[in-house]
Amino acid sequence: MMYDVLIIGGGAAGFYAAIHVAEADPNLKVAILERGKEVLGKVKVSGGGRCNVTHAEFDPNQLVKNYPRGQKELLGPFYSYGSGDTVAFFEERGIPLKIEPDGRMFPQSNSSQTIIDCFVGETERLGIQVLRNSAVTDIAHIQPVAELPEGGWSVQSIRNTYRTKKLLVASGSNPKIWKLLEGLGHTIVPPVPSLFTFNIQDDRIAGIPGVSTEAKVTVIAKRTTGIGPLQSLKSSSNPILLESEGPLLITHWGMSGPAILKLSAWGAQILNGLHYKFKIKVNWLPEYHTEGILQLLLQVKEIESKKTVLRTHAVELPKRLWINLVKATGIPDDLKWADISKSQLQDLAFQLTQCEFTVDGKSTFKEEFVTAGGVDLKEINFKTYESKILPNLFFAGEIMDVDAITGGFNFQNAWTGAFIAAKGIVGG
Ligand SMILES: Cc1cc2nc3c(=O)[nH]c(=O)nc-3n(C[C@H](O)[C@H](O)[C@H](O)COP(=O)(O)OP(=O)(O)OC[C@H]3O[C@@H](n4cnc5c(N)ncnc54)[C@H](O)[C@@H]3O)c2cc1C
Repeated sequence: MMYDVLIIGGGAAGFYAAIHVAEADPNLKVAILERGKEVLGKVKVSGGGRCNVTHAEFDPNQLVKNYPRGQKELLGPFYSYGSGDTVAFFEERGIPLKIEPDGRMFPQSNSSQTIIDCFVGETERLGIQVLRNSAVTDIAHIQPVAELPEGGWSVQSIRNTYRTKKLLVASGSNPKIWKLLEGLGHTIVPPVPSLFTFNIQDDRIAGIPGVSTEAKVTVIAKRTTGIGPLQSLKSSSNPILLESEGPLLITHWGMSGPAILKLSAWGAQILNGLHYKFKIKVNWLPEYHTEGILQLLLQVKEIESKKTVLRTHAVELPKRLWINLVKATGIPDDLKWADISKSQLQDLAFQLTQCEFTVDGKSTFKEEFVTAGGVDLKEINFKTYESKILPNLFFAGEIMDVDAITGGFNFQNAWTGAFIAAKGIVGG
């Protein structure tokens, strides 16, 4: 079976690319090969079933800052096709998006099914074949022959063998396809999880799941295991690499929320090297240093001298967290501010600004999780998303060593890559 364009992977990037290829040149014979019975499985579950399509960040220079891997390479592509273009794509197809206060964008319907219906409808309208239950098992390059003067690709699925002039690989984080690409000469950056939450068992956060507060979190190098990555962290010229600030959510298992998820993404490789066992320091009042909070507590001691430490709303912190931190210092429940000692004040200031926790493992962030690693970015031409190693081979989406923090940025990578790859395929 001969095609002009074959796409491996019926996910976000695969569908988006197929639609743009077929729109740009309706005469091309295009097919998507999807291993599953259903297509767009991740889109379906994304964003808690609402699909966080993109982020309301329309400046490419700002947008790239959300990509721990791909930051440099995506700048040009985002100038060509950014979040605004994604919004326009969906609006032109009758799917208005809405912006949430934190910048995340969702379909107004609040349902990922709207996006799936749009994509599937578009493939039908444009005559794109969607071949389900068609797991790809092999890929081979075809040298130029009479039938394929520019060469092409032979793709074997569990059902059939196909030949195509151009091949787009959009199979997401799939080890089998990475292995096939490695066999063809591509370098695969070893995959590690990104976007996860931290497992922590500690009395100071026990019994208060759901409490959320602004915090600064720093990974600290206390353990000797995995010293290699931590040394490189310490000597890094980028000091924010493993420090983040933002809302921190206490969960049943430990900590989550943007402050933690950002760390998990930026530190994906380092934390993997530590086997997800390390220490963190939390400043629960990020606008203060320890000395500053000590001064503040001394003022509270003066003003609130007759009140108990435990029951005073001394600082801007959720009440239940304050109680846990006060208890952690060993301050008795009935101790009044008038009677607090200097060392107790220091302990409290320390708990508030340099609160150390031991992380012991990670958990999946259910709203969104991605894999760092994939096809080495040095081997991709970001003007066309074509392989620099093999002709007529293109990539888009999570298969590449690109990933982002949570917020709609991972899909934006898929849309941008798919659009530019489609242009590269049709134009080349
Ligand atoms: C639970 C969850 C929620 C998420 N929510 C969000 C969100 O709200 N916003 C956001 O920006 N990102 C989100 N993400 C991340 C986002 O889903 C991915 O970054 C995005 O789907 C990547 O698109 P892709 O097309 O590269 O890969 P995928 O969407 O994973 O598609 C790859 C497709 O290729 C198919 N495939 C794999 N191997 C083969 C093979 N051998 N033969 C044929 N087909 C194959 C797979 O079955 C799959 O359908 C979420 C991820 C998860 C897991």
